[in-house]
Amino acid sequence: MKAFTFLARRFVAGEGPQDAVRVGEHLQRRGIRATFDKLGEDVTSPEAAKRAAEAAKELLRLIPPDIERNVSIKMSSMGQGISRDLCLEQTASILDVATEVGGFVRLDMEGSSLTRDTIEVFHELRKRYDNVGIVLQAYLHRTLDDVREAIARGDRVRLCKGAYREPPEVALQDMPEIRRNFEAAAHLLLAKGHLPAIATHDEKLIRSTIDHVREKGIEASRFEFQMLYGLRPRRWTSLVAEGFNVRVYVPYGTHWFPYFYRRLRERKENVLFVLKSLLGG
Ligand SMILES: Cc1cc2nc3c(=O)[nH]c(=O)nc-3n(C[C@H](O)[C@H](O)[C@H](O)COP(=O)(O)OP(=O)(O)OC[C@H]3O[C@@H](n4cnc5c(N)ncnc54)[C@H](O)[C@@H]3O)c2cc1C
Repeated sequence: MKAFTFLARRFVAGEGPQDAVRVGEHLQRRGIRATFDKLGEDVTSPEAAKRAAEAAKELLRLIPPDIERNVSIKMSSMGQGISRDLCLEQTASILDVATEVGGFVRLDMEGSSLTRDTIEVFHELRKRYDNVGIVLQAYLHRTLDDVREAIARGDRVRLCKGAYREPPEVALQDMPEIRRNFEAAAHLLLAKGHLPAIATHDEKLIRSTIDHVREKGIEASRFEFQMLYGLRPRRWTSLVAEGFNVRVYVPYGTHWFPYFYRRLRERKENVLFVLKSLLGG
């Protein structure tokens, strides 16, 4: 267990909220923003959902005022699998605290069995809150429609490829096709979206975004790049040096295994890193 904790540190800031905030302070000194995430998903009891919501509220209050109070949460950790009302109640209680402290809350997107419900919960919350955003996944067939709808509603979208294994009926399987869908969604969001986040480590997509905004004269203040803690740290700095806004997703907590596993699955270099660490390299 200890060895795994050591290995997860490449992708996870630490076990407690203070570890995440320390990383946020360090990033801020480099001109990089953060969104913080207490790891955990798929809770199976109302008590666990309430604990997860309390942790998010504690985190929002803990982030010092000079660091943006920006957190990411998963609906499955708010009791989505138990009842819509429980999930709404817990998430709204976090949004109340976020409102109090001038914070922002992003609803992460999970597997496709939860997409529709997550978007419906988000729409319900948007009736009452401005400080909440959603994530859309470029690999899903439905996403361009969701992007158009989000633009029409003025919703804040983080666009990513999507990290879950999905069947061909719901998701594109081929990387060039996913990239094309990502670019199509990104171009719509960059043209008309409200502060979209382009979340990728894929250099082809980063370059094509930069080329696109330069060609269209879209100002850097209208969007941000987002990357995950531990992945491509030098690129965060070079994007900031090129005048772009960058936000890093900083996860923390003890329930890191599903997140860690998704990182290993999506990129062989991440597995090589873990193997090298095991061998003491
Ligand atoms: C901020 C953020 C939030 C996210 N939130 C969600 C979410 O809510 N729901 C969800 O399903 N997924 C989420 N994801 C994960 C996302 O969906 C992808 O699974 C993940 O980002 C991997 O796809 P990628 O586009 O980054 O590049 P990949 O497909 O992993 O890599 C493609 C190419 O990019 C280049 N590249 C990638 N990494 C590196 C590197 N370290 N060094 C050099 N080149 C590299 C290489 O050329 C590589 O072949 C999020 C990702 C980010 C960055």
